[in-house]
Amino acid sequence: MPTYLTDSALCLRVTDFSETSQIVALFTRTHGLLPLIAKGSKRASKKNTMSGPLDLLTAGEVVFIAAKNTAELGTLAGWDLLNHRNELRTHLPALNAAMIAADITTTLVHPHDPHPELFDELEATLHLLGTPQRPRAIVAYAKAALTAAGYAPQFSACLTCAKPPSTAPDALLRFSPRAGGILCLDNRCPAEGPTLTLPARIAIALDRLPAPTTLLASPPPDRPADPAALLTALHILLAHIESLTNKPLKTRYLLPTIFGIRPASAFPP
Ligand SMILES: [Zn+2]
Repeated sequence: MPTYLTDSALCLRVTDFSETSQIVALFTRTHGLLPLIAKGSKRASKKNTMSGPLDLLTAGEVVFIAAKNTAELGTLAGWDLLNHRNELRTHLPALNAAMIAADITTTLVHPHDPHPELFDELEATLHLLGTPQRPRAIVAYAKAALTAAGYAPQFSACLTCAKPPSTAPDALLRFSPRAGGILCLDNRCPAEGPTLTLPARIAIALDRLPAPTTLLASPPPDRPADPAALLTALHILLAHIESLTNKPLKTRYLLPTIFGIRPASAFPP
């Protein structure tokens, strides 16, 4: 008898497999990221123990049989859809932001490595992405995912000389994607590899930015977020992720659409 396991899950990747089946990547709360085969999930029959084919970004309760070894696919035995996230599907910027959040997760989290805290952050993020808090939420999630994966970026002080960022309005500093932190603008604090120049105020804001669960639990801020500053902030966090994996994120091209501005306008000259 196989052992059936259950867990709360978010569907982060779906690929069709044969006429009737799918291969999915589910991010589960207590079993981590699971690659599973959903046999017959696309078949319309009474025997189908799933609520229809699985859709990207939906939440549900999964019943599965774990793979014998981590190189194989587990088997999805049941899927009880709890939230179809319709508010994301009717608004393209929200959907694109959710696709980026899913991509960040599958890029940073290793299969079978549980991250219940990040699961909670992703649930909060998917909720916030359907609200006006969307731009802030996706930036907060990129930071939370890096932190959960053990690569918390450092924005509180220069990596070399430990000087905190200047609060002068037009102060600039550099971010090293490879080292994952800020550096003074001058060459006395040398960087490993290429750096990105950014306003010091963005580093200060990124340092203070709370996790999505905290954003969700607090009243929305009175001041609307500055989309150009948030786009720059997300660009920096994604550059850090790409430097860790040595390849561009598949969803990076969606970046400008979620803030409604072109990336070129987001950078200081
Ligand atoms: Zn320095």
